[in-house]
Amino acid sequence: MNKNNYDNVVKKSQIVSSEWMKIPAPQRGEYIRLFGEELRKEKDNLAELITKEARKIKTESLGEVQEAIDMCDFAVGLSRQLYGLTMPSERPNHRLQELWHPIGIVGCITAFNFPMAVFAWNFCLAAVCGNSIIWKPSPHSNGCAIGIKKAWDSISGDYADLVQIFEGGKEEAVAICEDNRINLVSATGSTQMGKEIAPIVSARLGKILLELGGNNAAIVCPSADLDLTIKGIAFSACGTTGQRCTSLRRLFVHKDIYKDCVQRLEKCFDDLIIGCPTKENSQIGPLISKESYDTMQEILKSLRDKGVDVIGGERLEIEDPNEYYVRPALVMVEKIEDEMMQETFAPILYVKNYEDIKDAIHMQNDVKQGLSSSIFTNDIRESELFLSESGSDCGIANVNIGTSGAEIGGAFGGEKDTGGGRESGSDAWKNYMRRVTATINYGEELPLAQGVEFDEN
Ligand code: NAD
Repeated sequence: MNKNNYDNVVKKSQIVSSEWMKIPAPQRGEYIRLFGEELRKEKDNLAELITKEARKIKTESLGEVQEAIDMCDFAVGLSRQLYGLTMPSERPNHRLQELWHPIGIVGCITAFNFPMAVFAWNFCLAAVCGNSIIWKPSPHSNGCAIGIKKAWDSISGDYADLVQIFEGGKEEAVAICEDNRINLVSATGSTQMGKEIAPIVSARLGKILLELGGNNAAIVCPSADLDLTIKGIAFSACGTTGQRCTSLRRLFVHKDIYKDCVQRLEKCFDDLIIGCPTKENSQIGPLISKESYDTMQEILKSLRDKGVDVIGGERLEIEDPNEYYVRPALVMVEKIEDEMMQETFAPILYVKNYEDIKDAIHMQNDVKQGLSSSIFTNDIRESELFLSESGSDCGIANVNIGTSGAEIGGAFGGEKDTGGGRESGSDAWKNYMRRVTATINYGEELPLAQGVEFDEN
């Protein structure tokens, strides 16, 4: 890593953020509005970059750019809503007030699979909150980062440096984590990565926002509408080639509908169109790398060696022989297998039956990760139990939709090994600001809190 380059990036970021934070928030929002307009204009070109690098099918790439646009719209509104509370003071003629100020520089480390949307979650909020951003994209998606930076540069006038790209891998990410000048590290990627960087940031008592791996499950109840359910499962398990943090990996199906559900899933997986992501009708593109393919095959082999029933998962030679296309795998398990406890970033769906909804919820929660979860049911008692404090322990809990494909309006993220962070909608903006509690005395006396006496005589 070139240390001088890095220092230049940080210095530029410090200079621009010290100016940017003085601009009134609604004016910062205006820049984000223009950025959103630019993304609209460039939508097709940016989507092409995503398809080229992350190998997503066209509709998903367009959807990802749309997500970035949606984030701009959200942040524009937010720029007039960075509310602080006013609390009643216990003292006469006093006011207690919360103020929110920019934190400075946000260091943003992102994963390959959402090369633009995750940046937009972070940047749009960070920017309206008054911060600059240093972005270390995944080495798989530097072109996407350059593409989106170009869009920012074209509308940002004197504030082009607000977005700085710092390309690299682990070493560059660690430099950001170690650096006291970085006021928030927002990192998206594997749990392994999170476990390695969290102690580095904590050692300097820095702020960190983690969005890590998932191991998401869905429960299919006897009353479920199976047509809708199969559709939801297929997109969640196979869409993006099983390479979403929210991809569906484990399925618990009530024993009375298990056979029917598995038969339908087999047919559905068989009918999926796997092919070059630039082709109009392709539903599933290739895996990101040979390493991903090898990991998937190792897991499937280990299951087959134990006599577990695995359907699909084989490589398909389509177009470029250097790309790794696979048929999604359906794995029918009689008991919880060790392989199910980890996130394999590939389209493998484990299916197990259950008798009692409470057991299904227990199995769903009984993994280290806590990102996304779903229940398919038309029984209000089951769905309410699933959403209750005794239900799903994940950051995302859905009813009658799959585990993936979240909207930006809600806070996104999960518990346990998923890292505990929340980004995107709701009040996630608070992560990008520092809170000041101000007490204002507009009277002529100086009463102390809690009735403490301290008279000067
Ligand atoms: P990854 O962990 O390999 O890499 C993510 C980023 O971290 C990259 O920029 C990479 O260069 C950097 N990095 C990797 N190892 C590092 C280390 N030891 N120290 C410092 N930096 C390191 O992840 P990936 O393969 O790009 O993406 C897939 C993973 O990301 C999956 O686990 C997925 O669930 C997760 N993910 C989570 C979310 C979420 O919001 N929770 C969103 C997208 C992806």
